[in-house]
Amino acid sequence: MKCYCHQEVDSIGECVGCGKFVCEECKVEMDGRIYCKKCSDDLTVAIRKGQVNLNISEEEIKEGKIWAVVAYLGILCLLPLLMKKDNQFALFHGKQGLVLFLTIVIAGWIPILGWFIIVPIVFILNIIGVIQSLRGKCFKIPIIGEIAEKIKM
Ligand SMILES: [Zn+2]
Ligand SMILES: [Zn+2]
Repeated sequence: MKCYCHQEVDSIGECVGCGKFVCEECKVEMDGRIYCKKCSDDLTVAIRKGQVNLNISEEEIKEGKIWAVVAYLGILCLLPLLMKKDNQFALFHGKQGLVLFLTIVIAGWIPILGWFIIVPIVFILNIIGVIQSLRGKCFKIPIIGEIAEKIKM
């Protein structure tokens, strides 16, 4: 296979982001994986925004995935925090799920605004959390994620 932008140069691998073949000159290595320039730029932006975390390994994500999903099911968010503390992926989502859960508890005491605005929003955020967990993503929810990061386990 030839490089996607140098038609005459043999590729040395495939971008794990988009599947394009890249040559030695075009490849960007991040975390031991090969990316094309565009994907590596996208990834860098995502890392800066805190949407992905390269410190979490594939194995950890695989093993922690089900716990990450559980983190968004109300009080069950305590499970990953208690049982899977050593798994960064489970811990990340566990903390975020805990903040969401506490937000719902507090919102329950605030008439109208809490019941009809905050609770439905948090409910949707929980669903997004489940989807992102299943996709193996460390999706940081704005504000909620910032608070969650401050929790020390
Ligand atoms: Zn790419
Ligand atoms: Zn090239």
